[in-house]
Amino acid sequence: MKLRLILGDQLNLNHSWFQNREEDILYLMMELKQETAYVNHHIQKVVAFFLSMRRFSQNLIKNGHKLLYLTSDDETNQQDLKDNINQVIKDYGITKFEYQLPDEYRLDEQLKSLCENLNIDHESYDSEHFYTSRHEMKDFFENKKSKQWLMESFYRMMRKKENLLMDGNQPQGSKWNFDHSNRKKIPKNHKVTAPLLFDQDVTELVQLLKDENVITIGKIDDKHFLWPTSREESLELLKFFCEHCLPLFGDFQDSMEQNEWSVYHSRLSFSMNTKMLSPKEVIEAVLTHWTKNKDQIDISQVEGFVRQIIGWREYMRGIYWAKMPDYYEHNKLNHHRKLPDFFWNGNTKMNCLNQSINQSLDYAYAHHIQRLMVTGNFALLAGIEPKEVDQWYLGIYIDAIEWVELPNTRGMSQYADGGIIATKPYVSSANYINKMGNYCQNCHYQQSKKTGDGACPFNSLFWNFIDQHLDQWKSNQRMSMMVRNWEKQNPQSKQALLDQAKSYLEEIENL
Ligand code: FAD
Ligand code: SF4
Repeated sequence: MKLRLILGDQLNLNHSWFQNREEDILYLMMELKQETAYVNHHIQKVVAFFLSMRRFSQNLIKNGHKLLYLTSDDETNQQDLKDNINQVIKDYGITKFEYQLPDEYRLDEQLKSLCENLNIDHESYDSEHFYTSRHEMKDFFENKKSKQWLMESFYRMMRKKENLLMDGNQPQGSKWNFDHSNRKKIPKNHKVTAPLLFDQDVTELVQLLKDENVITIGKIDDKHFLWPTSREESLELLKFFCEHCLPLFGDFQDSMEQNEWSVYHSRLSFSMNTKMLSPKEVIEAVLTHWTKNKDQIDISQVEGFVRQIIGWREYMRGIYWAKMPDYYEHNKLNHHRKLPDFFWNGNTKMNCLNQSINQSLDYAYAHHIQRLMVTGNFALLAGIEPKEVDQWYLGIYIDAIEWVELPNTRGMSQYADGGIIATKPYVSSANYINKMGNYCQNCHYQQSKKTGDGACPFNSLFWNFIDQHLDQWKSNQRMSMMVRNWEKQNPQSKQALLDQAKSYLEEIENL
């Protein structure tokens, strides 16, 4: 008898493992405390994972596969990956152990160490999900002897390799990147299309988590759970995205709108990160829809989306596998301030943060620009300890799995890797937030005010951040304009900004 492990983010029904039924294969799935407890997760994240696993397991059984599913409250569940596997091997007379390569370093190490101590055969398989293998991106840059691993070069290579949006060797639309068209603010009277929400009663599962003392954060409407938790629902969300969001996706990709929690974003990250959907089928669906509707959908909407998936998503994974485990330790800017409590309770007068954090607590979701230019921007300007920032992002978002969360947070958002991912820190004053949305219009603070009563904290914190790390920015060409702008301000204005930042940081919990 062979034992095959299926992890909670390996819900890929199209994997070659499942194409044939074999009598001598036992599949194993487990709801584990080790997975719910390594960080405090959002309740919707735990529910979404467990429910998707349960629905996936029912599909396998329906298709005639043998499966052992250990629920969280199963008496035989020892709540630890290794202990359970060792027990099942003993109980079922297993002679070979097989697993798909996990996406997290932590689990990879655990499984390697398990296998080293097994006295039966073992084998690992590819998860058959990504466009690239674990080390393909690293090899690409090392072969080119590139000093800076620029996402854009990797992305162009991927476009050519996969022949996506290409006319022969040239990019369709004569441009590789339509980023400049992807920066529009939502016009005043524009009504954003309502997102597609699912409606599942998950009261029993929520009760089970309570009974099992699983510690969670955030809120849930347990009678109407809104996230897709099966392949069918994920495909429905993909179809909805193509028909209703894609036509405006690129335009409003970076925009922020009061009380609109997902704007025109796909919300497909959970379905993809659990592998219910493959990135290839997502790209294929988008390109097929576009081909049929080219008169209505501009290439700039489509290229922006393709870039996120074959570019950023694969790139982040490549960085993760190239740089782990050292990546855990990066804190280049030496930041050590505690994460303010309002990240956990949403209680802040800063409207941009209030909106972004409260919707994260309500839905376990924020779109990219909220993560990068609101919460991430604030944490970086305020000098928060990167490990604490990571714990927050890893816990709160439905799609947060370390291989994608860590490079995005530690690298792209907090610049803690000293520029491996981002060529300059993603920071801004209130100007950018005001330019890209309408949060500032509803804020206690005034976005145009830099010092004094009611001045927007982003303004003084921004200049304080530039000042604190000035030597570092002087050697970064992309920061030279900021440095010049700071240095040419008169000493009194500079001091007023630094004093304002100091008093805001002292009172950070009350902002
Ligand atoms: P859309 O805007 O519709 O984009 C489509 C898809 O592109 C996404 O589903 C995602 O798969 C991919 N994508 C877009 N940007 C990125 C990116 N920077 N890195 C990787 N994939 C990307 N994404 C996660 O999946 N898990 C995380 O834990 C995560 N943590 C993040 C933390 C920070 C600080 C930041 C700045 C970004 C993080 N991202 C993370 C990336 C991105 O914000 C999310 O993928 C996106 O918001 C998910 O929503 P969506 O599916 O509606 O995305
Ligand atoms: Fe955010 Fe400042 Fe704008 Fe308020 S004024 S929403 S704190 S950027």
